[in-house]
Amino acid sequence: MTVGYRWTCKLCGASNAPAEACSKCNCPAEVTADEIDLARSAGSFEAVIHKRENARRARAEWFAQPLWQKTVDVAAFALFIVGLALGKFAGPIVYNVLRIALALAGGVLIWITHGTLFERK
Ligand SMILES: [Zn+2]
Repeated sequence: MTVGYRWTCKLCGASNAPAEACSKCNCPAEVTADEIDLARSAGSFEAVIHKRENARRARAEWFAQPLWQKTVDVAAFALFIVGLALGKFAGPIVYNVLRIALALAGGVLIWITHGTLFERK
């Protein structure tokens, strides 16, 4: 997005006129702290562009899945969270067994569905 005022590049520190990206290093005007860290460690902003593109593609692929697979995904995540949340109540041993079983079941389901999802190119 284009910013409507003069701004300082968060990556290289260059002063910029209103624009979408830095005139010196091409870093977009609007970036997160994580993206800056990634760009610094990779030595260029290309790594961030690549990561954004991968994230966009992963989202598009997730939504392109059949409905049953999305349902399994959401259900697995809910199981995982419920499993973790039950751990907050340090109650009878049965809760501990239940929470470990739920978190494991959810975790395994997420791992299975996402393992196949993100390996696809
Ligand atoms: Zn810059």
